[in-house]
Amino acid sequence: MLRRFLLYLSHASWARSIVTHWGVARRVARRFVAGETLDEALQAARLLNQRGLLVSLDFLGESVTSAEDARAVMRAYRHMIERIAAEKVQASVSLKLTHLGLDISEEECLTNLRHILTAAKERAIGVTIDMESSRYTETTLRIYRTMRDEYAFDNAGTVIQAYLLRTENDMRALAAEGAHIRLCKGAYLEPPTVAFPEKAAVNANFVKVMTQFLRAPLTNGDRPYLCIATHDEAMLQAAEQLVRAENIPETRYEFQMLYGIRSARQDELAKQHKMRVYVPFGTAWYPYFMRRLAERPANLWFFARSFFAR
Ligand SMILES: Cc1cc2nc3c(=O)[nH]c(=O)nc-3n(C[C@H](O)[C@H](O)[C@H](O)COP(=O)(O)OP(=O)(O)OC[C@H]3O[C@@H](n4cnc5c(N)ncnc54)[C@H](O)[C@@H]3O)c2cc1C
Repeated sequence: MLRRFLLYLSHASWARSIVTHWGVARRVARRFVAGETLDEALQAARLLNQRGLLVSLDFLGESVTSAEDARAVMRAYRHMIERIAAEKVQASVSLKLTHLGLDISEEECLTNLRHILTAAKERAIGVTIDMESSRYTETTLRIYRTMRDEYAFDNAGTVIQAYLLRTENDMRALAAEGAHIRLCKGAYLEPPTVAFPEKAAVNANFVKVMTQFLRAPLTNGDRPYLCIATHDEAMLQAAEQLVRAENIPETRYEFQMLYGIRSARQDELAKQHKMRVYVPFGTAWYPYFMRRLAERPANLWFFARSFFAR
């Protein structure tokens, strides 16, 4: 119930306006967001690299409705990619198609994405297309496949959400194509017609599709590649057991977690596996932050603590 309410608030503009002007909320959000500027994000990435952690930088934002703004986002990503390469930071980038103008038109979004992929491929910097609500699943997968084939770029990937009913079929097809996939549980408010409403069913589906994907025969070199994106100890243990028991090489998978969540576990995983931290930055932190609160309403206590600690 609370999760649904927080997810509703994540796209309510009246709530955005209240929360983003509230000093306590800004302070609590800093736990999950590396800063407002690229300099701050790169500094956070360097510190993570020093701990043996890889990074994926995300310039926060979504649902852009002006073509000018979408182009500014594209330029920000190109600049980010240039700096990652020039400063030799161990980082890929993650982006959202609605941040690049998908709500304006697919053309606008594709043009922006091509500029980013050209810069990324030249410098061998990975690009992952985040998955947004189920309204965008089909389009996102189509755009991912088009770009992957157009650029012949193995380091281009996308995200699949275990809570969607369609996921098992998608994962089967993507494994056969040798895709680069981040598997997560899914962070949006979805109806039972498209997503499992029960957490137990989502968890079971996560383990099932992860296992099938990692067991898929290698059709094409070392591909397919799976990024196991979760903080859930049961999922992590199932994954570790599977890669150990089936001797799955590091060229086939990595673990991923979000900045500010289970940092000690991130360090522990990095001793034995490739481990990447998703590092968001920017001023448009509100919807991202609300989704993090929805995942763990206990985080609301940070508000109370910060409020009384003033
Ligand atoms: C690298 C990465 C990229 C992602 N990209 C996408 C994407 O493109 N699209 C999408 O829909 N979703 C994305 N997500 C979010 C994902 O879908 C889940 O909403 C989120 O990861 C929480 O699920 P969980 O697997 O950690 O399990 P949960 O069952 O939600 O959590 C398990 C445990 O992890 C810890 N935990 C989880 N979340 C938090 C939190 N916010 N604060 C503190 N502790 C927490 C708690 O200990 C909790 O008990 C991404 C997640 C990661 C890690």
